[in-house]
Amino acid sequence: MNISEFYPIYLQSKNVVIDSRKIEEGSIFFAFSGENYNAAEKAKEAIEKGALAVIVEDENYYDPENHIFYVPSTLIFLQHLSILHRDQLDIPIIGLTGSNGKTTTKELISTVLSSKFKTQFTFGNLNNHIGVPLTLLSIRKEHEIAVIEMGANHQKEIEMLCEIAKPSIGYITNFGKAHLEGFGGYEGVIKGKSELYNYLIHNNQTILVNDNDAIQKEKTENYASKITFGTSNSDYQFQAIFKDHFVGIKYNETEIFSNLTGKYNYDNISAAIALGLHFNLSIDEIKTAIENYIPSNMRSQIQKKGEKTLVLDTYNANPSSMQVSLENFKTFEGSKIVIIGDMLELGEESQKEHQTILDFAQSCNFDEIITVGPHFKSVYPSVNAFLNTSELIERLQLMPIKEENILLKASRGIALEKIIEFL
Ligand code: ATP
Ligand code: MG
Repeated sequence: MNISEFYPIYLQSKNVVIDSRKIEEGSIFFAFSGENYNAAEKAKEAIEKGALAVIVEDENYYDPENHIFYVPSTLIFLQHLSILHRDQLDIPIIGLTGSNGKTTTKELISTVLSSKFKTQFTFGNLNNHIGVPLTLLSIRKEHEIAVIEMGANHQKEIEMLCEIAKPSIGYITNFGKAHLEGFGGYEGVIKGKSELYNYLIHNNQTILVNDNDAIQKEKTENYASKITFGTSNSDYQFQAIFKDHFVGIKYNETEIFSNLTGKYNYDNISAAIALGLHFNLSIDEIKTAIENYIPSNMRSQIQKKGEKTLVLDTYNANPSSMQVSLENFKTFEGSKIVIIGDMLELGEESQKEHQTILDFAQSCNFDEIITVGPHFKSVYPSVNAFLNTSELIERLQLMPIKEENILLKASRGIALEKIIEFL
C-alpha cells in the first residue's frame, strides 16, 4: 500500500487507533507489534468490529479484499501519512516542548483557545514519535487550530517531531534537569529542546518567548517573529498574584485565578494568556477559560481529604520540578509533611541530584520528610526512607499522618498515588 492511495481512505475514517480495544465503526487500526505480540492477529477481528482498514506489517495477514493492507513498517507508514495530512492543513499549529509543564501548558492553551476556535490538541500525554502523528491525524476539517505536545529524552527527537508536525508557532516551557541521562547533561537538554527554535527560525515561523527565562531570551535574541511576555519590555505584561495556594495573574485591571498551585504555573498560565490575546480573544473570554480549568491529572493539584490539604504532584518528577514543588509547599501555613519519591532517568547525576533535593528539603523546616525508592534511600539514612510504596503503606497503617498539609511528588515509576487512600 502506498501513502497517496491510502490517504482517501483515511479521510473517510472516523479515527485512527493503535489499540485494538479502541476500534469502533469507521476506525483505521494500525497493528503495531511488540516483541512478544503480533498485533496483525487482530486484523480480522478489527474488520469485523467495523474498522474501515487495517495496516499490518506482517505479510501473512495481507488481505486487500477485507481492507487489510501490508506495509513494511506501520510506524513509518503512520508517520508519513501524518506528514501528508499535515501538509494539507491550513491552520495554526502550536508546538510545545520543554522539560516541565508541557501537558499543563497544552491544556491551558487549549482551554483558552477552545472558547473561540474549534481546537484540537494532544490527548493526554501522547507526545512522542507515535503520539504526535496520531494527534495530527485527529485534526479534521472542522478544526481551526491545534496544540501539539512534543516530548523528548534524547537529541534529534524534537527535530524529527518538528519535521512531522511543522509547527507554525512554538514554545519551550523551560529548560530543566529532566532526562539528563538521554540528553547528556543539562547542556544537552538545552541543545535538544532548542531544536524547536532551530526549526522555527529556519522556516520563518513564530516563537513564543517568556522574557523572564534567560535561556529563552538569549536563544531568540536576534529573531524577529516573536510573541513575548514576562517583562516590562514584552508584548504582554502580567503580574503574578496568589490566593489560597492558587496562582493567578493580573493583566491591566483584570485578575485571573487558576486552580493550580505553584508559582511555576504562573509561566504556564502566562503562555496561555499571551496566545489567547495574540489570537484576539478578549481578556474576559480568557479569564473564564482559565478560571474554569480544574486539573484532574495529578499535576499541581490540590485536594482536600477531611481536614487535610493534599498537594498531588505524583504524575512526574525531576530535580527542577521537585525543587519548585518543595519551594511552593514551603509557603503553606500549618504543619507540613513531604512524601517524595525517586526521580528516575538521571543517569550518572542521580546520586548527586537526590542528595541535593534531600538537602534542600531538610533546609525547609518541614515537620517530617518521607522518601520512597532506592535512590533516596541511599542518601537518606532514616527510618523514614522506604524502598517502595508497599513499605510506606504498612507504616501508614500503623502510624497515620498527623500533619495538616501533605505534599506527594515522585517520578511516574514510583506510582506514589497508590498511598492516597491510606492517608
Ligand atoms: P512529561 O515529560 O511527563 O510529558 P510535562 O512537561 O508534560 O511532563 P506536566 O505534566 O505539565 O509536564 O507537569 C509535570 C510537573 O512538572 C508538574 O506537576 C509540576 O510539578 C512541574 N512543572 C509544571 N510546570 C513547570 C514549570 N513551568 N517549571 C518547572 N516545573 C514545572
Ligand atoms: Mg506531558
